[in-house]
Amino acid sequence: MKALYDLTPFTLLDYPDIPAAIFWFVGCNLRCVYCYNPDIVFGEARIEEEEALSFLAKRRGLLEGVVLSGGECTLYPNLIPFCVKIKALGYTIKLDTNAMRPDVIASLIAQGLIDYAALDYKAPEAKMSEICAGGSEKRFWESFHLLRESGIDYEVRTTLHPGLLNEDEIVSMAKALKHEGYDRAYYVQLFREGSETLGVLDPVGRRVDCEKLARYATLRT
Ligand code: SF4
Repeated sequence: MKALYDLTPFTLLDYPDIPAAIFWFVGCNLRCVYCYNPDIVFGEARIEEEEALSFLAKRRGLLEGVVLSGGECTLYPNLIPFCVKIKALGYTIKLDTNAMRPDVIASLIAQGLIDYAALDYKAPEAKMSEICAGGSEKRFWESFHLLRESGIDYEVRTTLHPGLLNEDEIVSMAKALKHEGYDRAYYVQLFREGSETLGVLDPVGRRVDCEKLARYATLRT
């Protein structure tokens, strides 16, 4: 079965402390205006599962982890058996997810198939439809609670385009996370101009108050 749009054979940046490959799953259930990956969101799968697994089999000893990214990997209908095969090859798995499929996240956790998760906290509910059509803050919290209770290592992250979210909204999101018992780094990734995006964006017209944000979040540029 064709699963992936692309495969990055090696990264030291995307899986904390582990040399890893990235599997880019095709398609997404959101339409974030700032999305850098319209090709993946609207593309077609090009790489068979068997090809990806055979790649991993050959890289045993060189790589330790696989990042499931996209697009949105939880949409892939064969994800659970695919992850079982990845684990059988001895790899650890990091899930990168927009958090909109808590049912799939629950299955992955229940079957011991993920070792680390990066969860997008896109926006407060009032901003979801403007920033990420199809998104729901309620579903984010469902996914968050599953991970919080699971004992699995995880992180929460937000992309900040200063024309879409302001510093006060980020501070409110950070406080909401803290209120829910989140005591890890909350990563805020600043939107970078220059790439093709899924939606049409106004130019970033103002500087972000990084000093203010740094009191509540860990900034990634
Ligand atoms: S940025 Fe949004 S639209 Fe793009 S892949 Fe991630 S969740 Fe999907």
